[in-house]
Amino acid sequence: MIVLVINCGSSSLKYQLINSETNQVMAGGICERIGMEMGDLKHKPAGHEPVEIDVKMENHEVAVSMVLNALTDKNYGVIKDLSEIDAVGHRVVHGGEKFAASTLITDEVIKAIEECNDLAPLHNPANLIGIRACQSLMKDVPMVAVFDTAFHQTIPDKAYLYALPLDYYEKYKIRKYGFHGTSHSYVSKRLAEFCGLDINNSKLIVCHLGNGASITAVQNGKSVDTSMGFTPLSGLVMGTRSGDIDPSIIEFIAKKENKSLDEIMHLLNKESGVQGMSQVSSDFRDINKAMQQGNEKARMAFDVFVYRVVKYIGGFIASMNGVDAIAFTAGVGENDPKVRYDVCQYFKYMGITIDEEANKLRGREVMISTPDSKVKVAVIPTNEELAIARETVALL
Ligand code: AMP
Repeated sequence: MIVLVINCGSSSLKYQLINSETNQVMAGGICERIGMEMGDLKHKPAGHEPVEIDVKMENHEVAVSMVLNALTDKNYGVIKDLSEIDAVGHRVVHGGEKFAASTLITDEVIKAIEECNDLAPLHNPANLIGIRACQSLMKDVPMVAVFDTAFHQTIPDKAYLYALPLDYYEKYKIRKYGFHGTSHSYVSKRLAEFCGLDINNSKLIVCHLGNGASITAVQNGKSVDTSMGFTPLSGLVMGTRSGDIDPSIIEFIAKKENKSLDEIMHLLNKESGVQGMSQVSSDFRDINKAMQQGNEKARMAFDVFVYRVVKYIGGFIASMNGVDAIAFTAGVGENDPKVRYDVCQYFKYMGITIDEEANKLRGREVMISTPDSKVKVAVIPTNEELAIARETVALL
């Protein structure tokens, strides 16, 4: 099947056209600055030079039609006709408690996604705009919603409830949801296969360390706990997000600096994390360079990041009563050997040993633990688009 995968943001739209039989990405790209004075479409067809088109895109429907034109273009298109697209898989950030799996998009499903808008006000409305734009241009093509939160719906109440008055859960559904579910699901399955483990009888930990970062405990193929919570702000230290902090800090800063709640949320989401602590960058390439030049703040930010990862891994080993294999994935997890090495050093006590040569390899699945390590540790590159395409095909 040929599946168009759509990941729609408020002013951008990322896409990939994937042949699900060969796993081949036929084309991919991004529309940016939708709804602004001038936008642009970057289109990368497999086997051709990339194409960049500067064009005003009034709304997402115009952006989708630009993408469809690019895919069928005489010179750089990859299909002859839109009828070759068998299905569309949409990334949807929040499915609340309503969606524990991917689902075929119907009018009722759209209504149910709308009801989750409160939980992800920046993302879900944009995802819905993308769905509607595709529906109006590809009327008879089946569409599937794949939720970031769905994989985590198996987390038990002891792990998802916050110790607030229960009313807040009952009235507003305030609880841990978890995110990056498509990545955690895909990587945990690949990790089990790669390590020769039976996923249905395994204890795995997936460290998705990118600009956004989260860790998930996966027992017998099911998510049983994860580091992100009600929103993607909690848990690990991230590029610009603080991760877990004492909630009283919010009141303290508000009073000391005369800041509004909106300003403090901005500070926690956009000015904190590795960027805020290092005062260098949110990017680990810059942090590594600065550390090599002796920058102490960069060193501190790096160490705080690693330490938080260690605490979550340690906590999840305890809660699963063991671990068979650990995966590192996403931008930092796949590309930063020092992060992986430093994290694993903390687990020497339980027999984890790292092969330093293997740990230097990049860009593919690789076992970085030594053959005698008590727990297998691997780098498993994530591929959220391919996972969405596979979910779409499996559902249809
Ligand atoms: P993601 O959100 O998964 O796309 O990850 C993006 C992040 O990966 C960047 O902000 C960097 O911090 C990190 N990253 C990418 N390439 C490298 C690299 N070669 N070494 C260290 N970190 C990297």
